[in-house]
Amino acid sequence: MNQSKKKMSLTLKITISLVLGIIAGLLLQDHAYIAVDYIKPIGTIYLNLIKMIVVPVVLLSITQGIISLQDVRKVGTIGLRTVVYYLFTTALAVTVGLVFANVLQVGAGYVLPGDELSYTATEAPSFIDTIVGIFPSNFFSPLVEANMLQVIVLSLFMGFGIILAGEKGEMAVKVVDSFTEVALKIMGMIIQLSAIGVFALICPVVAQNGPAVLLPLLKVILVAYVGYIIHIAVVYSVSVKLLAGMSPVKFFKGMSQAMLFAFSSASSVGTLPFNLEATQKLGARKEIASFVLPLGATINMDGTAIYQGVCAIFIAQIFGIDLTLGQQITIILTATLASIGTAGVPGSGVIMLAMVLQSVGLPLEGIALVAGIDRILDMGRTVVNITGDAACTICVDALDLKHERKKHMQ
Ligand code: ASP
Repeated sequence: MNQSKKKMSLTLKITISLVLGIIAGLLLQDHAYIAVDYIKPIGTIYLNLIKMIVVPVVLLSITQGIISLQDVRKVGTIGLRTVVYYLFTTALAVTVGLVFANVLQVGAGYVLPGDELSYTATEAPSFIDTIVGIFPSNFFSPLVEANMLQVIVLSLFMGFGIILAGEKGEMAVKVVDSFTEVALKIMGMIIQLSAIGVFALICPVVAQNGPAVLLPLLKVILVAYVGYIIHIAVVYSVSVKLLAGMSPVKFFKGMSQAMLFAFSSASSVGTLPFNLEATQKLGARKEIASFVLPLGATINMDGTAIYQGVCAIFIAQIFGIDLTLGQQITIILTATLASIGTAGVPGSGVIMLAMVLQSVGLPLEGIALVAGIDRILDMGRTVVNITGDAACTICVDALDLKHERKKHMQ
């Protein structure tokens, strides 16, 4: 069976198991303990495995991406373009979320349940502390603690160090190449378990909460998805067309499988192998894709940013809090930062939502309300996240090619 057929059938399997998980959850409503005691642990094992492999995949693939660019200055130019694209589109994404949540009155008609609200979040660090915290004081602790921003800094230093070591670094190049392949293969094996994992994750949520948790929040889901779709259709179409001259139809056709997989797996890092294949088929060079994509899977989360904007407004509206323009601008800034700090694994966006709410003094208890439907919101935001990474890859690749051609003509 060819590679893409295999991936297609896995995506289909995951989608079916998601539906089956919901049905099983509905059937187990009166015996929720079965789902919680026996099925949920399987989902936890699956999530743990994804988290286990995320650090090696990100560390190695970004290091490998840098090494394959071969030139520190080139990494600088490509890195700068990538980060500017990522930050700009993420800020745009939060704005999209805020605008749609305001216009469509996402919280209107919702009645607060009152008694079942409880959520404890840890205090968010200040902006300066966040910046200082990106730089590790120990080589191994970022890996052990899975501090993804610190892992990126490590990868940058490793990559640069290996390039600068020249001939003497050749052994390291081979080691990184070989281990990257190994890490991606391990990721592939874990991804094969997605069908079981997805079933085991959704079933207890439905069994415990039932449709009761879903219906009042239907509007949040709708508004978030409107934001996701508009952002994908407008921002990525325009950027691939303008910056890379690629027809948006071609782009989305090429991306369809990776998008479908992101939807069913809700993990950007898990979708990395699909995204690497899709962007290269669309013409991006391997060395660009293997630098821009893993970086994006870790720091670029436009879908998460939209979701955070929508949830912030939802929580403000249901608690009857009017947010000033200044506060909404603060949300744009903090949600952009929060989405950078969100790891590309299922469910991490909801954790970073606390930081956004805290920045404007919104009640953290609101998170408990949206947490019940997080999987549904997560699936869509992950699609946006990985499509943004791919659009950036296509654009950065095209800009770099243009630059190279110009250099050769001189
Ligand atoms: N699940 C998302 C991702 O992997 C992150 C999030 O929870 O927002 O891209």
